[in-house]
Amino acid sequence: MRLTPANAADRKVLVTEVGTRDGFQAEPAFIPTPTKVEILDALIDAGVASFEATSFVSPRAVPQMADAVQVMAQVERRKGVRLQALVPNARGAEAAAAARVDMMVCFVSASESHNQTNLNKPIGASLENVAEVAAIGRAAGIPLRGAVATAFGCPFEGEVPIESVLRIVEAYAGLGVRHISLGDTTGMATPRLVDAGVAAIRSRFPELEIALHFHNTRGIGLANVLAGLELGIREFESSIGGIGGCPFAPGATGNICTEDLVYLLHECGFETGIDLERAIRVARRVEEVVGHPLPGQVMRAGPRLRHHAVESVRRAVG
Ligand code: ZN
Repeated sequence: MRLTPANAADRKVLVTEVGTRDGFQAEPAFIPTPTKVEILDALIDAGVASFEATSFVSPRAVPQMADAVQVMAQVERRKGVRLQALVPNARGAEAAAAARVDMMVCFVSASESHNQTNLNKPIGASLENVAEVAAIGRAAGIPLRGAVATAFGCPFEGEVPIESVLRIVEAYAGLGVRHISLGDTTGMATPRLVDAGVAAIRSRFPELEIALHFHNTRGIGLANVLAGLELGIREFESSIGGIGGCPFAPGATGNICTEDLVYLLHECGFETGIDLERAIRVARRVEEVVGHPLPGQVMRAGPRLRHHAVESVRRAVG
């Protein structure tokens, strides 16, 4: 068990907030740009140091992300805070480079049918897009992060063979990518699959930094985080309030929740640099913004040692 950090360096976990991208993208009503910026700034104030802030996709494909340029221009840029953006193709990469994102994120699905449904092209064609993005990023001095979607299972194909994941990772590595993110797009990961996936990538590509992106669709998102921690993974992606959804499971919860993740990490002795109480306040604000309840749990119950006034509790027994 490596759940107790070995030393100070081992104690640091990077939480990458994806709520304003992965989460907001699932919201049907357009969230005004100043509100998106307000949420990002509040999270930066709460100590979040890494974001997938927005996406430079075609506004026709994803209207919610139509203001990527404005969001990047208006959000507070602070030293030590990494603002990543999703970039699907060369056009997006040019815009992301002009907007001075700190890191571009490309994503390709490990499952052919999911890639076809999600990106409307075969995996091979997506990898060609990634090569174009990588070239633009290299010229602009912006690193590229390679995300693998449906890395732990596909809603159309079921089990995703590890070889399919390795094929994408190999393509990324060949383009100079050093950061890989394994995405559990529809919440099909289990601790055993996390073990197997991470081990397979490490044995072939020991030089790569691996981050894990879980969805809580089936309620074991944080169990998968524990599996990752035991393997020494020190970066996880999550969304504030657990905002997000799953297009293939209506009503299902989305990403693992940032405050719940931070609570778990802190209680295990890890450091995130995030102020949990402030993160909870942002989660409540996001709930207000989207106008429906979010699945986060610590935002309702509070941290375990939050004191409650005795007088505030109705007596159960006379
Ligand atoms: Zn996701």
